[in-house]
Amino acid sequence: MKYISLNHNSAPTSFKKAVINGLAPDKGLYFPEKNVKLPVSFVESLKSLNDVEICYEVIRSYIGDEIPKNKLLEIIKDTISFKIPLKKIEQSIYSLELFHGPTLAFKDIGAKFMASCLNYFKDSYTSKKITVLVATSGDTGGAVAKGFSNTKDIDVCILYPKGKISEVQKKQITTNGSYVNAIEVEGDFDLCQSMVKKAFNDEEINRNIALTSANSINIARWLPQMFYYFLAYKKINNKRNVFSVPSGNFGNICAGILAKSMGLPIDHFIAATNINDTIPRYIKEGIFEPNNTYPTISNAMDVSNPSNFVRIQKIYNNDLQKIRKNISGFSYDDKTTKQAIKKLFTSENYLTDPHSAIGYLGLKEYMGSKNDDTLNGIFISTAHSIKFKDVVEDTISSKIKYPASIKNILNKESNYQSIGSYSELKEILLNRN
Ligand SMILES: *Cc1c(COP(=O)(O)O)cnc(C)c1O
Repeated sequence: MKYISLNHNSAPTSFKKAVINGLAPDKGLYFPEKNVKLPVSFVESLKSLNDVEICYEVIRSYIGDEIPKNKLLEIIKDTISFKIPLKKIEQSIYSLELFHGPTLAFKDIGAKFMASCLNYFKDSYTSKKITVLVATSGDTGGAVAKGFSNTKDIDVCILYPKGKISEVQKKQITTNGSYVNAIEVEGDFDLCQSMVKKAFNDEEINRNIALTSANSINIARWLPQMFYYFLAYKKINNKRNVFSVPSGNFGNICAGILAKSMGLPIDHFIAATNINDTIPRYIKEGIFEPNNTYPTISNAMDVSNPSNFVRIQKIYNNDLQKIRKNISGFSYDDKTTKQAIKKLFTSENYLTDPHSAIGYLGLKEYMGSKNDDTLNGIFISTAHSIKFKDVVEDTISSKIKYPASIKNILNKESNYQSIGSYSELKEILLNRN
């Protein structure tokens, strides 16, 4: 498979190059050159196949012969090495729990898959040591740190804003051993991001280090997100299915849409957002107009200009009518989100984090408007409530129990360096190699 740039000013390139580059030279997002269709017989036989076989069939055409079959099977096995339960919450309403991975968020899947691919490609890539450099507002950092914690030939530097991430998130970023360098920045997420950008454009750094980003637009993070739509479908009965996806940068929902384009029967998608509602407004009004980004309690979705939306437009040939037929958009403020967390806890005895609660709200609104008992609704639960402990405990007025995996890291000592300026970051990067 070759990958084209959606800015159409770079030559098509291999899977390997696209993974290493992240973005195409013309700054466009990579997109598979060909449509992939799965045989109907495969989709019909999902129930009888094992999970690794399913994921292999789903992704193999996107990778071709660039990773041998046995290696790819091993990577997949590693990527989905935790449970992905589908829980019934109410009549025809299910939660697909993607938060049982190492850092308790769905990003574990993409981050692990990408780390393994990069590790496989590294020797044929460069003689310089590879450094993965990322800025995080919370969830990405932990998942990337964990994904790369055993890839000893790849160095990882993660920048996070001091005081702006939760306690659990900080532990997940700062307790991964010597290959993962956590850097606490005196400033906000925007400052972290601008420092990372500067490093990528810094000639002296690029002469000495092979810098790469583990950004969510990387195809090795995007494509494996298709896996869990197939694994969910395997578990449900034959009704028509609607997926509601809490969305920020729109990578997760876009992977579901790609899965559908390959032949997975999904009736409809719901893009559920917080008040950063550019896409729900676009779907309703037909005008694409990002506002400023507002901070919310579902901060992993505080995005007002979602990078992955161009991929969705590509799948639907930029046809707004097609987009409307396949995707509905709903947005919710913090107050409504907290009411949903509280309601799910008190009447269903189900704990959700703010992101997943928005997925639930979108699903309920859509299902309510359809009133069609041939539909099954599935909302994607993107993070464990413990990652947003303070706001969730405050909302439900009781304490949340720590899962066992978290208890372990809470006792570990945090290791990080503190910086306030770009020159300090540069010094760290140059001295680590
Ligand atoms: C990243 C993230 C999202 C948003 O996912 P996108 O693919 O960026 O739309 C939602 N919930 C949580 C918990 C996240 O970490």
